[in-house]
Amino acid sequence: MLISVVVPVPALQELTYDVPDDQPPPTVGARVVVPLGTRLVTGIVAACDVSLPPDVSRGSVRPVARVLDREAFVPADVVALARWTADYYGAGAGATVTAVLPPLSREARSDAHKTRRRAVITQTGAAALSGGVRVSGSRSDAGPGRLVSLTSKQTEALRLIESAPAGVPVADLARQGVGSQLIARLARQNLVTVHLERVERDPFDASPFSAPPVEPGRRLTPAQAVALDRLTHLSAAGRFRVALLHGVTGSGKTEVYLRLAAEVRRAGRGVLMLVPEIALTPAVAAIFREAFGREVAVQHSGLSAGERHDQWQRIRAGEVDVVVGTRSAVFAPLARVGLIIVDEEHDGSYKQDESPRYNGRDVAIVRGRSNEALVVLGSATPSLESYHHAVTGRYEHLVLDRRVHDRPLAAVTIVDMRAEYAAEGPEVIFSRTLRDAIETRLERNEQALILLNRRGFSTAVFCRQCAGTVDCPNCSVSLVVHGEGSAKRARCHYCNHSVRVPQACLLCGAGYLEQSGVGTEQVEAHLRTLFPAARIARVDRDAIRRRGVLQSLLTRFRDGGLDVLVGTQMIAKGHDFPAVTLVGVISADVGLGMADFRAAERTFQLLTQVAGRAGRGDRKGEAIVQTLYPDHYSIQFACVQDYPGFYDRELQFRRAMRYPPVLSLINTVVRAKTFVGAMADATALVVRLRAADPDEESFAVLGPAPAPLARLRGEFRVQFLVKGRDRRRMREALEAALATRPDVSKRTMVDVDPVSVL
Ligand code: ADP
Ligand code: ZN
Repeated sequence: MLISVVVPVPALQELTYDVPDDQPPPTVGARVVVPLGTRLVTGIVAACDVSLPPDVSRGSVRPVARVLDREAFVPADVVALARWTADYYGAGAGATVTAVLPPLSREARSDAHKTRRRAVITQTGAAALSGGVRVSGSRSDAGPGRLVSLTSKQTEALRLIESAPAGVPVADLARQGVGSQLIARLARQNLVTVHLERVERDPFDASPFSAPPVEPGRRLTPAQAVALDRLTHLSAAGRFRVALLHGVTGSGKTEVYLRLAAEVRRAGRGVLMLVPEIALTPAVAAIFREAFGREVAVQHSGLSAGERHDQWQRIRAGEVDVVVGTRSAVFAPLARVGLIIVDEEHDGSYKQDESPRYNGRDVAIVRGRSNEALVVLGSATPSLESYHHAVTGRYEHLVLDRRVHDRPLAAVTIVDMRAEYAAEGPEVIFSRTLRDAIETRLERNEQALILLNRRGFSTAVFCRQCAGTVDCPNCSVSLVVHGEGSAKRARCHYCNHSVRVPQACLLCGAGYLEQSGVGTEQVEAHLRTLFPAARIARVDRDAIRRRGVLQSLLTRFRDGGLDVLVGTQMIAKGHDFPAVTLVGVISADVGLGMADFRAAERTFQLLTQVAGRAGRGDRKGEAIVQTLYPDHYSIQFACVQDYPGFYDRELQFRRAMRYPPVLSLINTVVRAKTFVGAMADATALVVRLRAADPDEESFAVLGPAPAPLARLRGEFRVQFLVKGRDRRRMREALEAALATRPDVSKRTMVDVDPVSVL
């Protein structure tokens, strides 16, 4: 019998093998050991009894070496879901199976166990740092007891490593500008040692909070009761349906999820709960764990391979009937799925930014359809797509438009920074309004969140004489300054290239370099000078590199050990901090300048979400939003928390520009060593695409043109967009064009339903 097999090799599509008669009959989802080149690998049966593909000769089909399972190892519906994902997103079957399934077996991948290297300072290293510098003859023979001379780079690296008693992961050091060669040199000099460690975590380790105790007797608000009633009714019907639970921040959506999940479990069906990021949406995961105890399994990419595997096996064995996890949990081997909840469904992190570029929310809907399940999409700021489906009746639309206990939404004040600059000069970071508001909070012992969605100290260095900027040599972006004093460096946020901040302009030699563009580090520093007595901390990707830091910061803030938390969008998400009465937004404009069709939508979502963090306790909340565009509709509507108003306005724009949800979109980026090469390759693809639909009956092609990020890691990038109503035809035409140029295909990124076209 011929079968189709997916092997976990990213570049490969499904392969055809023959099952000899002496082997047990295979089933879809069973593991099979198959020859691949000169190796044997473990794959999954994708389909049985297939016919010979037209481009394969019968003689070239090799036999399966062994059928490992009598029954499906991966449930058949999950195999079907993975195949759908590979097809829909134009990703290889191999890439998809690698991404969505747990490490298959030892033969499958050598990196199944996640390990990392950690550098730890030695006694010699510590001694060398603490001063007594004696010049040693050779670099490699510095034994214990002999001190060596250190370059400033080495000193800097050793200080970093010394700062953590348990050492620092080498990958983290690389991100801070300490390369592996430097570490290798330090290791040769016996100044540091490098350990290989296996990454292991408790699944709930990343969740900073224990859940508040469940109060079973708690009375639902009238709106919660209506929503729960309707959802329970829908789930009891045992049919596929999608419902949008559109509830303002603090309206108690989690309580609705919890009770609905309990109902579905009672009815003997499984519950899948998707959250954007476990570490940033801690409450939901913790609350589910609290409510369902050991019956909950967790699936997210932060788990070690071994742990993910264990959790996966528990789900597979039917030991749990509730799974909480990030986007890949949509492929969890849970049986009899009756309910899939997608919390914060608008969140961009549901979209995977590498192949397969799937959107966990959309795959959840497909799974819901095949499992005859109810899919609940929850958000205070639904994506335009989901809301569009809700108002056009395709989805059930449930609204929670009040906060629990009728707490008022935060009152929002817009500060026009143009006026502020005119009055106070262009260096102003905190307007007078915001400064006063923070001061009042400190006096009253209340807490404040300060948001700026841009990390680093300054976001550019430029020359006052020639206006030249200090750019990344590999990418078309300017370098971002991090740190102050001796730790100051300019770094590329895309490729991590990092240099000392130059003293003079690299273009004209003038010594008038200035830094511009404020990032979170500068906000934090400035805040410390304004309020020296305040307890301040910062949460952004740089600040929370070390494991456990995020958790301890959030816990400290929640327990009142901090007054002000400065951060990027990480602090805007679903946290519930009852003592926060002020949210300050340093600049609402960060996202608006981006050449992306979702710029306004993202700005609206961020502002609404962050304003939603204020006033969740007994005291009223206030938000202060600084902007140079006080009249922009995304800012205006966010300030009055008018989602329908925003939707109508934004939909006009999408209609006029023909963007989703009005049309479907595929973003395509071709990479090449030269710009001319990238342009020529992209043009060849576009010509073929246009020839496939000359009258633009099902789609139109925009471009090719240099991508917004025109150079990345030394490669040039040229972009084109395919827009149309018929996604299938668009994909097929694109695949046909790519098939004529396999060389170009390898350098082409295809993103179906992109969340961003940058
Ligand atoms: P959302 O996710 O909609 O922003 P949450 O689910 O975080 O809102 O709920 C906000 C707060 O209200 C939480 O502290 C939650 O425990 C509380 N809460 C939710 N429902 C009720 C209720 N029916 N009675 C009292 N408190 C509630
Ligand atoms: Zn770069």
